[in-house]
Amino acid sequence: MTKIAIFQLMQEISSFNPSTSTIDDFAIQCGAAWIEHDTEANHEIGGALAQFAEHNEVIVVPTISARSNSSGAVLAAASWDDLSTRLTSSIDDLATEHGGTIDAVYFCMHGAMAAENEMDPEGFILAYAREKLGNKIPFVTSMDLHGILTTRMFEHSDVIVPYHTYPHVDQYETGVRAAKVMMRLLTEDISPVSVRVQVPALVRGDELVTETGLFGECLRLAKQIEERELGLAAGMLIGNPFTDVPELQTNVVVTLVGEEEEATQYATEMGELLWVHRDRMRVALTSIEDAVIATIDHHADPETNGTVVLVDAADATSSGASGDSNAILAAILASDFLGRLLAPLVDAAAVQTAIDAGVGNSVTVRLGGTVDPARFTPLDCQAKVRLISDGDFFSESFKLLWRGGPTVVLDVENHTVVVSTNPVNLFDRSFFLSHGCDPFSYDAVVVKSPHCEPHMYKEPAGLYIDVDAPGSTSANLKSLGHTQCPRPIFPLDDDVVFQPRINE
Ligand SMILES: [Zn+2]
Repeated sequence: MTKIAIFQLMQEISSFNPSTSTIDDFAIQCGAAWIEHDTEANHEIGGALAQFAEHNEVIVVPTISARSNSSGAVLAAASWDDLSTRLTSSIDDLATEHGGTIDAVYFCMHGAMAAENEMDPEGFILAYAREKLGNKIPFVTSMDLHGILTTRMFEHSDVIVPYHTYPHVDQYETGVRAAKVMMRLLTEDISPVSVRVQVPALVRGDELVTETGLFGECLRLAKQIEERELGLAAGMLIGNPFTDVPELQTNVVVTLVGEEEEATQYATEMGELLWVHRDRMRVALTSIEDAVIATIDHHADPETNGTVVLVDAADATSSGASGDSNAILAAILASDFLGRLLAPLVDAAAVQTAIDAGVGNSVTVRLGGTVDPARFTPLDCQAKVRLISDGDFFSESFKLLWRGGPTVVLDVENHTVVVSTNPVNLFDRSFFLSHGCDPFSYDAVVVKSPHCEPHMYKEPAGLYIDVDAPGSTSANLKSLGHTQCPRPIFPLDDDVVFQPRINE
């Protein structure tokens, strides 16, 4: 029999979100329970389990799964102490209970975590596991392509398997790829050789959309490498530009069977492909003032139709932002816009005020600026409570249960604000739809995600504007004040030079 342990640690944070996240933000499961639930799921673990199930000799040994319910801020020190103890204990158990009998470990990791007292939590865990379980068994690590591939992660993984799509739709396939590579390592007499090339760049924008953008060229090359007989895994980890840690940058990683020179060539080629296009991998942003004027003009012009999509990626909860930005709502309320706006907001206090008032009643509330008051000024307004919910809903993207905590729908003048207690992912429409709000029945909608699948907002939009609002995940990277990441780095510094650094 072949015993493969699986381990999961998933969180993405923004260092510029002024709050901290805690262990309570994680769904933590141990033992068999979490994989029973995950067998059907449309993500990495589901894909890996399906693949392992095709091999009768494989016994899956689940260790621990810690998935943050949402992205968020840096993990508080005490919470990391607590969480890391639980994570390392599960590895200790693996070493003792299964002493010497585990054949391999699959680590499913996002890669963009940071704690106040540990800038590289994933690397810490991989190093710890290596120390406990030894050098002889293979470790395969899958990562979100916004993960930061640190030196420890690279050194202690035999193969890194990154996502190949943005917006991410290949989580399941990534799990399948990771499991297939694992089975090759276990059943064939092969030696993987991994090469990492560091690229001093932080990139954003439409060209990152793999279906249509220039970044797709890099990933098509990665797929071609994987399709080769000698190809085990290839990809590019662009890093979450908001996770400001000492190793934040773009990394290319290529793993081939025993072919260092070729792997180096491929990895360098991919790195250069990104580098030559870097200037186009930025977002052209429109000021809030100009975005409001364009919204008013679009709505007033009888020749135009369709909803105006106001993209507020600066408050993207799925990238780690606080979600309490009222910047666009405030600008619309202060303007002459006669249409109806739909906007999402995180505001626990406003939710409680609305619940106390009850459905159908009017209430005076302060909206926004509860988590990040340095960026957002609370907005005093009169609202009517239209709906109260528990905030649980199934995502249209992954059919996973997402939990916003108690949630209310408020009418503010002729606009609608869907207010949750906790931040939830907003990279699809499910938060709005599950609360009875069809974005396209409004004249304008605030979308707090840099990119959703095109059919969700971009294609049906009457006008689509990337707004330069303040926020802890602003694509205006220079506005954030990075202090940790290596410098110089594009686009924070001028005249950055790319000299491929191989495996440093
Ligand atoms: Zn990502």
